[in-house]
Amino acid sequence: MAGKKRRLNKRQRRLLFIALPLVALFIIFANVCDKGVLPAWLQNPLDSANSATGGLLYTQPQNSKDLSVHFIDVGQGDCILICCNGKNMLIDGGTPQESGTVENYLRGQGIKSLEYVVGTHPHDDHIGGLVSVIKDYDTGTIILNDAITTTQTYENLLKAISDKKKQITPARVNDSYRLGGAQFVILAPIRDYDDLNNTSVVLKLTYKNRSFLFTGDASEESEKDMLDAKSDLGADVLKVGHHGSATATTQDFLDAVNPQYAVISVGRGNSYGLPNTEVTQRLEDKGIEVFRTDIDKTVVLESDGQNIIGKEEK
Ligand SMILES: [Zn+2]
Repeated sequence: MAGKKRRLNKRQRRLLFIALPLVALFIIFANVCDKGVLPAWLQNPLDSANSATGGLLYTQPQNSKDLSVHFIDVGQGDCILICCNGKNMLIDGGTPQESGTVENYLRGQGIKSLEYVVGTHPHDDHIGGLVSVIKDYDTGTIILNDAITTTQTYENLLKAISDKKKQITPARVNDSYRLGGAQFVILAPIRDYDDLNNTSVVLKLTYKNRSFLFTGDASEESEKDMLDAKSDLGADVLKVGHHGSATATTQDFLDAVNPQYAVISVGRGNSYGLPNTEVTQRLEDKGIEVFRTDIDKTVVLESDGQNIIGKEEK
């Protein structure tokens, strides 16, 4: 009798083991039917993770109409598309050879016009792709620094601008502009420099509570001048200066920016050995999450002004 009783208990325990999760599921579905919506943590588990950590997630944006910053993979060069509330801006355009890549990307994003085009400094890997963009697109304000050079690419850029009967707006420190609900302010170049890289236009874009610092190829001298000028450098995202070269991203500058995320725009297997390992170590030591266009291809960061969401093309 005792044995039979024990077997019955075991069966009851098995039944209970199966029934309990079923009852729990029933309660959840009853709750869902009653409210007509899923509880927030069931709708998108990443949402609650995101709000808990303020972290960066690899998922579709919740509201793509806000701000998106596209670090377009143009090999060894810089090209950044910023879209905010239907307004668009391009910072640099990669080399002349990458013109097609840039225009294809803009087409893919459905972009017809650019409110702003910024050429950070007159090196081919920054202004090259801008020549055809200025020819082919409706552009608003074209911002360049005062530095000039004699290269064919630079001459082509000036010709494209004059052919479209556009003016150059010189980059002036503290000048600020609106892009949809975002605004950006120019922080550099503070003065003249012998090295064209240091003449790079540096600008900080802010959307609600989040900000991005774009540095072109600004290097140590320009970084020091911005620090000495007590420029408002703090930003959530840093476009790492000069493709991760050892000439930029000094420790003091990095400490002042203190970003959560960093993006290095650099070519796969480039002959310069970029990014420099000291720079990547500096970023790692600060616990900064790093994206690289040589590894991640085009990197897109989207923000509603609170959270920042990252996508990689891969
Ligand atoms: Zn460059």
